Amino acid sequence: MRQNTYLAPTLRDVPNDAEVISHQLMLRAGLIRQSASGVYSFLPLGLKVLQKVENIVRDEMNRAGAQEMFMPSIQPAELWQESGRWDAYGPELMRFKDRHDREFALGPTHEEVITTIVRDDVSSYKKLPMTLYQIQTKFRDERRPRFGILRGREFLMKDAYSFDRDFEGLDESYQKMYDAYTKIFTRFDLNFRAVVADSGAMGGKDTHEFMVLSNIGEDTIAYSDSSDFAANIEIAPVNVTYEQSNEPKLERETVETPGKKSIEDVSKFLNVNHKTCIKSMLFIVDEKPVLVLVRGDHEVNDIKIKHYFEAEMVELATEDETTKWLNSETGFLGPVGLDQQVTLIADYAVEMIVNGVCGANEIDKHLKNVNPGRDFDVSAYTDLRNIQEGDPSPDGKGIIKFKEGIEVGHVFKLGTKYSEALGATFLNDQGKAKPMVMGSYGIGVSRTVAAIIEEHHDENGIVWPLSVAPFQLHLIPVNIKQDDQRELAEKLYKQLTDKRYDVLLDDRAERPGVKFKDADLFGIPLRITIGKKANEGIVEVKVRKTGEMIEVKIDELQHIIENYVG
Ligand code: ATP
Ligand code: MG
Repeated sequence: MRQNTYLAPTLRDVPNDAEVISHQLMLRAGLIRQSASGVYSFLPLGLKVLQKVENIVRDEMNRAGAQEMFMPSIQPAELWQESGRWDAYGPELMRFKDRHDREFALGPTHEEVITTIVRDDVSSYKKLPMTLYQIQTKFRDERRPRFGILRGREFLMKDAYSFDRDFEGLDESYQKMYDAYTKIFTRFDLNFRAVVADSGAMGGKDTHEFMVLSNIGEDTIAYSDSSDFAANIEIAPVNVTYEQSNEPKLERETVETPGKKSIEDVSKFLNVNHKTCIKSMLFIVDEKPVLVLVRGDHEVNDIKIKHYFEAEMVELATEDETTKWLNSETGFLGPVGLDQQVTLIADYAVEMIVNGVCGANEIDKHLKNVNPGRDFDVSAYTDLRNIQEGDPSPDGKGIIKFKEGIEVGHVFKLGTKYSEALGATFLNDQGKAKPMVMGSYGIGVSRTVAAIIEEHHDENGIVWPLSVAPFQLHLIPVNIKQDDQRELAEKLYKQLTDKRYDVLLDDRAERPGVKFKDADLFGIPLRITIGKKANEGIVEVKVRKTGEMIEVKIDELQHIIENYVG
């Protein structure tokens, strides 16, 4: 491709409205342009990357035995009414009416469409299992489109759907997709983890989110530094054995702590370690008061409270509720002498505290030398706190670290939700009608392009991994007006493209500085510069990733290229 007439408009300055690096670089390198909030065009360079990403996804889907098809974006409202999602989906669903006043939606996902197709055309167990997929534009009227194509309103997704005879079959289909995803994100050179997405009602193992570990993202991921353990911090289990010190238990006393409410203030005021403090928080769990205790250096996790009680609602008590149940104020709460109607539970770490400090349930007062078991009894010790950096990994391997995560893929066991709602049954080997057991599997194809840039860039621009680079080679004659440089560049361009390399030739009459800056911004893996030594048949090869530069004779060039790009 010749750069002179190529639509790859570069920007020197960082666009004001682009907060994250991938968005900035995609605009600056001329990969995308915005037409409305969350709606983007892919320019030629951006599209080349998008297609490479697509093709790797396609390749691994096909290898896993999934069949590619293509479904419409326009979906009739009736389909969504049948599944119950016309109302449930809310304002994210983009709805419109045709000229006959019939209602439609632009597909945000395709469970309804695929399930009715399979319902109508697959009836025997002999056809199952079957996994179908497509790569297609999705529409979601996101509340907050942002970060460029990371959260768009129109975006490219690979969505796959599996149909099985039973739940054992679903487990196998799910595992196949899980393995394919692992291969796909490895081919993109991404540092990712499969994260158990929800350990609540869905039963834990039934959904994984593939998260790229990053400095931006909407979820914080706790991961092990030496195993593949990873979980959203909201649900990561804590698996720590706490030790109890053998110092003698002292007599409990009440102390004045005027205006000292936080663990920080109290520990400073009384000159005690955070670990000696007991943090007491009153929650209303399905309308009942529950006092929850954690150690002063820990944070309460309300999702764990919810799971412990199998509750519908867990909310921090208001000041009024606190006065009602404890006759006190937030900041001075504690477990000693509690009203019988208040349930008391504590995190495991609390049990090992000796001579602790807690609120006295009296304003401006705390208790010292409080000892669990002697001064109060709890109805249970259980895991109630957030995991923290430095905790041992719950799988026993390594130490926990935190990173933000970008969700690039999602695998999900649907079960029979859609097949039952839409009547997708098959006849089993006994001739009995059974609902198909389904799974759904998404990859954010366009989001992945941005995630790759988040991980692969430096201060000068993008540094594409070879597998998705828009071009393999960037040929740059330094001065196009010099005959020997231009002629050698043209000759190499022809030779290399004939050998089926993907080559971008910078045939623009620009200053060398401009050409090199653009080259760094584009991030093509190998740059071949044709300069003053063109007449001696010598060119310079620069590896974008390492910055390494070497001069080579043109008859050695082929060898170098093969070594690097294959
Ligand atoms: P999120 O929590 O980020 O909104 P989701 O749970 O709504 O994601 P799914 O419905 O599971 O996402 O969609 C499958 C994949 O599509 C996601 O894993 C993500 O990579 C991608 N995706 C979802 N929403 C968007 C969006 N607005 N823009 C770009 N990609 C998206
Ligand atoms: Mg979403």
